[in-house]
Amino acid sequence: MDTKLLLIIIDGVPWRNWRRLFGNLEGWVDSGDARLWKICSVLPSTSASCYASIHTGVVPAAHGCTGNDNVFRLTQADVFGQIRKAGGITGAVAHSYWSELFNRAPFDPVRDIEYDEPESDTINHGRFHTMSGYGLINQMTPSDADLFATLTRLCETYQLDYGMLHSCTLDSMGHRFFHDCQEMDHACFVLDAMLAPYITRWRQAGYEVIVTADHGQDARGHHGGRDPLQQEAALYYFGPAEGPDPDTVIDQLQLAPTILTRLGAPVADTMKARPFLR
Ligand SMILES: [Zn+2]
Repeated sequence: MDTKLLLIIIDGVPWRNWRRLFGNLEGWVDSGDARLWKICSVLPSTSASCYASIHTGVVPAAHGCTGNDNVFRLTQADVFGQIRKAGGITGAVAHSYWSELFNRAPFDPVRDIEYDEPESDTINHGRFHTMSGYGLINQMTPSDADLFATLTRLCETYQLDYGMLHSCTLDSMGHRFFHDCQEMDHACFVLDAMLAPYITRWRQAGYEVIVTADHGQDARGHHGGRDPLQQEAALYYFGPAEGPDPDTVIDQLQLAPTILTRLGAPVADTMKARPFLR
């Protein structure tokens, strides 16, 4: 691999919350250590549909994952599989949808909750959680500190070339409390503080890091449609590559070919969008 990269997806954080509340990330933009762009999700701006598009580089109309109730093993080439074709080692710390979309479905909680499969065509080292029982009064999300530590453990134990981490904490907070409230201010502040030391550690270990969301949320905590609050998030990039002008809005479909290009893995023919880093 030409480089190693970690993709950190913080579920359901709208553009305005990134800029307003993530002080460490914004500080690194000011210091020149990170680059920042706005990113726009596919439609529907629904979680599972976005996960599928982030990693396949094709729209939901093409991959067929139309929402969280329609999750299955996708047929399109994806980031994990393309990196494996190039001989890279992959890992994921995420909601179980990611295992179903890119490795195998349905999710068997005992077989699939954690696996180390060096010969896998897609995900070599997976650590998943189902959020079974999730609802407005019980988020059922793991602590983000535990998720960040788990990804770091995989990186340091298995020498991942590519690692993907996904956390639903802030999406769940937004659905429950909306955005103009103490609860959300505090939740974003805490996640930023938990994430920051790991970014330093990952950078020192030689990883490029992308931090972004799958979609935003509007004032009522909703997403799925075309409202800019629902579709738009921030994308922070830590690494040496050059990117577009700061006012460029990145298309979510550009993520997959960008990640593969950075690692030196083959971009699948189905991934038509242009990489935004070079
Ligand atoms: Zn989501």
